Amino acid sequence: MTDKADITIIGAGVVGLAVSAETARRGREIYVLEKNDAFGQETSSRNSEVIHAGIYYPEGTLKARLCVEGNRLLYELCEKYGIPFATLGKLIVAAGDEELGELDHLLKQGRKNGAQGLRMLSRRELKEMEPNVEGAAAILSPSTGVIDSHALMRCYVSKATEGGAKIAYRSRVTVIEKLSDGYRVTVEDTEGVSSFETSVLINCAGLYCDKIAALAGIDIDMAGYRLRYCKGEYFSVDGGKSRMVKRLIFPVPPPGIAGVGIHVTFDISGRMRLGPSIEYVDGINYAVDSRHKPLFYDSVKSFLPFIEYDDLQPEMAGIRPKLQGPGEPVKDFVIRDESDKGLPGLINLIGIESPGLTASPAIARYVREIVKGLLGK
Ligand SMILES: Cc1cc2nc3c(=O)[nH]c(=O)nc-3n(C[C@H](O)[C@H](O)[C@H](O)COP(=O)(O)OP(=O)(O)OC[C@H]3O[C@@H](n4cnc5c(N)ncnc54)[C@H](O)[C@@H]3O)c2cc1C
Repeated sequence: MTDKADITIIGAGVVGLAVSAETARRGREIYVLEKNDAFGQETSSRNSEVIHAGIYYPEGTLKARLCVEGNRLLYELCEKYGIPFATLGKLIVAAGDEELGELDHLLKQGRKNGAQGLRMLSRRELKEMEPNVEGAAAILSPSTGVIDSHALMRCYVSKATEGGAKIAYRSRVTVIEKLSDGYRVTVEDTEGVSSFETSVLINCAGLYCDKIAALAGIDIDMAGYRLRYCKGEYFSVDGGKSRMVKRLIFPVPPPGIAGVGIHVTFDISGRMRLGPSIEYVDGINYAVDSRHKPLFYDSVKSFLPFIEYDDLQPEMAGIRPKLQGPGEPVKDFVIRDESDKGLPGLINLIGIESPGLTASPAIARYVREIVKGLLGK
């Protein structure tokens, strides 16, 4: 490392890597600092790997805009760089007539957001498409798919390093000092403690982004940046059931929940799983509680009657870095330069929960424009 970087990115999850790939170029000194041994060891490898279409989020929010743009950009990246993906399509299924109003609302919301190709299916059309799914009606979202998130991150790493970015693993940011022109960043790595200066500092620290913002001197309660951890568990579906449906099957989200409801997804190899559940937690613990199995079974049995209780096995869990607490309205991504807090050149990305994976290439472009405004290039 030299003593002075142009841009330093904290965090080598899918978002930090996308930002590094988008901002790296020859002649620019860019560092990516990651406390773990490798990239993508946290939320970016503990999610559904769904390429979302952008249906649920309130119109005009960053979540809606960057998801719709990210959906298109991700498919382009997959085609161009050979990243494994499958455009499976998704159905949001109303289990009974009482959910038809909400289904209609979601269709309108998704169309306003610009989600591609949404269509309402009658009970009969649903049965023709997915004979093993029960429901009164469904929304078909043809542009929803799944992606190999590790291959995506490898692609971002290649693009970033080809552009000259240097990624340092086992490097934990512990101190941030504001200078007259940039920041002094202190890092603990295997060699000890060292520090360097950077003109722009980009906080992509996922579950720790509020702590990084606090290190930079922000009152995270005043700013509304304090994270609430919300755990999501998954159960895999065994018993040869993976071929019983072809598409991702989602319920109509139960009112007031902090997610899209326990749904059926497939990993890129075609293995079926159910999840994620929603549980606000105080700390980070990825163990799956097998006692939660009845919740998973009960959540899907009405629309997926072929799934039997014994098919379900605990699989894995992820933790959402949420800005809203239980029962509070959805909060948008925070992606901003903090000049108005007296911290020009600090770009915070706070609360990048779902659809952060889908939105990653669009988030990166958004950050690139902020960087351009700061560095003048
Ligand atoms: C259960 C669940 C399901 C989801 N499903 C989907 C989905 O299907 N589709 C979708 O689009 N999105 C989904 N998401 C959201 C998506 O996974 C996240 O938005 C995305 O992975 C966030 O990436 P990130 O890079 O911001 O965070 P992370 O992957 O958490 O990366 C942050 C990195 O910062 C590093 N770091 C933190 N502090 C420091 C420090 N002090 N010094 C150095 N490094 C540091 C961490 O070690 C970590 O590697 C889901 C999320 C969850 C939890």
